[in-house]
Amino acid sequence: MIPLPPSITADRDIAAEESLVERARQWLSADDRKEGIHASDLLKPRQAYFKHVDPRPWSAREVGLFLVGKVLHAFILSDGDATGVDVRATDEGSTYSEELGLWYSPDHVGDDIPVELKTSRAQYPPKSIGDMETYLQQLLIYMAAKKKTEGRLVVFYISARDEARKTSPKFEVYDVRITQEELEATTYEVRRLRNELSDALVAKKFDRLPLCPAWLCHPEQCPYWNQCKPPGRYDNRAYLEGKRK
Ligand code: SF4
Repeated sequence: MIPLPPSITADRDIAAEESLVERARQWLSADDRKEGIHASDLLKPRQAYFKHVDPRPWSAREVGLFLVGKVLHAFILSDGDATGVDVRATDEGSTYSEELGLWYSPDHVGDDIPVELKTSRAQYPPKSIGDMETYLQQLLIYMAAKKKTEGRLVVFYISARDEARKTSPKFEVYDVRITQEELEATTYEVRRLRNELSDALVAKKFDRLPLCPAWLCHPEQCPYWNQCKPPGRYDNRAYLEGKRK
């Protein structure tokens, strides 16, 4: 054991911390995001609307949340070459689907099957399909865009607990399959939602768009809370209290 010298001090360098956040923000923002509606917009249509009409830089919180996922993407995209991880290669680029009228950027396409990579801070893996709803919805959009009934979901649980309740990060990989009929129904829904968002942007009216998922919808999480005033949630004490639990 190395004894700590009695005079040792450790002062936080706030400027250095802010500089790191800003560097991360610039790296995360450097992706060549194409103009138009993206697959991820359909998962949070109202927030997507506001991001189009009133774009804002990512908050320090968002930067922190996305940074780990970005590094994970670089690792997964290196495939078998564990010695050649390239942190500049963090997605497969964007493709425009004429049929769906949107840009989509699957994190990876292996064997022509779309792959979605996620990092999760959940302590315990999902117990049901419903626990992975948002991840699966995003993968389904990619499957619709690529006309595939199969996809793959890779989740890195960074805060997973083992049987002894010790933090033990782990990967879980899911092969996802739907029927051809379900693919067609999904494609219809994707197109319908895309058109709703497009119409709202043209009309500059968001009030008929579906609300974003509740996990995202909170005054401390959404910078557009006071513009959106989500019906049933805004001024709803029970909703806001429930989110704090
Ligand atoms: S307040 Fe809720 S519904 Fe409105 S944009 Fe934000 S997350 Fe979406």
